[in-house]
Amino acid sequence: MQSDANPIPTAPEAAPIQTDVLIVGAGPVGLFAAFEAGVIGLSCQIVDSLARVGGQCIELYPDKPIYDIPAIPSCTARELVERLMQQCHPFEVPIHLDQRVMDVTQRDDGRWTVRTQQGMVLDAAAILLAAGNGAFLPQRLMLPEAAALEERHVFYSVAKLADFADRNVIVAGGGDSALDWALALRNVAKRLTLVHRRNGFSATASSVDSMKRAVAAGEMDFVVGMIAGLDAPEGTLRSVSIKHVEGTSELAADMVVVLYGLVADLGPIANWGLDIRAGRVEVDTSNYESSRPGIFAVGDIANYPNKQKLILSGFHEASLALRKAYAYAYPTKKRVHVHSSYDAKLAERVQASAE
Ligand SMILES: Cc1cc2nc3c(=O)[nH]c(=O)nc-3n(C[C@H](O)[C@H](O)[C@H](O)COP(=O)(O)OP(=O)(O)OC[C@H]3O[C@@H](n4cnc5c(N)ncnc54)[C@H](O)[C@@H]3O)c2cc1C
Repeated sequence: MQSDANPIPTAPEAAPIQTDVLIVGAGPVGLFAAFEAGVIGLSCQIVDSLARVGGQCIELYPDKPIYDIPAIPSCTARELVERLMQQCHPFEVPIHLDQRVMDVTQRDDGRWTVRTQQGMVLDAAAILLAAGNGAFLPQRLMLPEAAALEERHVFYSVAKLADFADRNVIVAGGGDSALDWALALRNVAKRLTLVHRRNGFSATASSVDSMKRAVAAGEMDFVVGMIAGLDAPEGTLRSVSIKHVEGTSELAADMVVVLYGLVADLGPIANWGLDIRAGRVEVDTSNYESSRPGIFAVGDIANYPNKQKLILSGFHEASLALRKAYAYAYPTKKRVHVHSSYDAKLAERVQASAE
């Protein structure tokens, strides 16, 4: 299993990756779907636009308890994702992270060619959209001059701490990511300033305490305000203007790391010719197939009468969708249902992966 720490490198010119089912989305529903695909004998590949698995569970509420997963009276969202990863581990499903699915075309033989923004190409018999509310993307700095400075002076993630060494760095935001990266970057930056619009944070208490201790020790600065302008003569960032409740001030800056959280965007999937209402893909509830035969939608992205956006609903939807997907991958084969408790091959796999 490819982990979030080590995404599969994909050369743009690489040959299409062949698979029975392409799962778009590594949220809880996509991960469970990978297990179900393995159980019923389908190969699959998972693609997610984020750098880590877990979808909303990890991005929005990792440490909150979930109480309505059958047979797990209580676990945090993070634990649920860890358990799902463990459950699909026996099938060694490749997970391609940092890959945003963009276009789809159907070939004459009925198979689908899918491309990601990053240049990866997949060739699948069926597609399972487990894409939640769409791809999570970083919320960007709403300043006209910001786009041209991206990846040189304005960043929405930190790839390597060393890139920020000996620079005046501003981290903007008040959540866990902002505080954690501010604390890490203060060790390499010439001067690190955390900028947040208020003197209250949506981060864990321990991160807030560590940040306050670092400020008190003079290791970093904290400024209450909003980034209101970037001064970049000839494309080189020199300073940032900060708007306060009263007035503005200028802060010397070489690099700004903006960690305002994520926004979900259905984006390219909206142009796939599917029946979409209010941002959701309409499906047939007998098999969760969309209006384009061979493309399925499960989890939060699926819509049908009385749809509940619950993880357990997504598990059920994925299970039924994959049974229909089997007919696209193996049109001449009849699948014989075996309960998992009687599935000797599955038992062997699970045991082997546990050893
Ligand atoms: C605060 C909060 C608490 C909740 N508590 C509960 C609870 O207690 N119980 C419960 O059952 N539910 C709960 N939910 C709802 C639950 O989290 C969702 O129903 C669930 O996450 C849906 O899973 P999913 O896999 O369908 O989508 P998501 O978790 O949204 O994952 C979708 C994934 O698809 C990826 N993706 C989308 N588009 C693309 C693309 N074009 N290319 C590549 N990747 C793409 C996204 O990056 C994302 O990682 C809660 C939700 C929130 C916000």
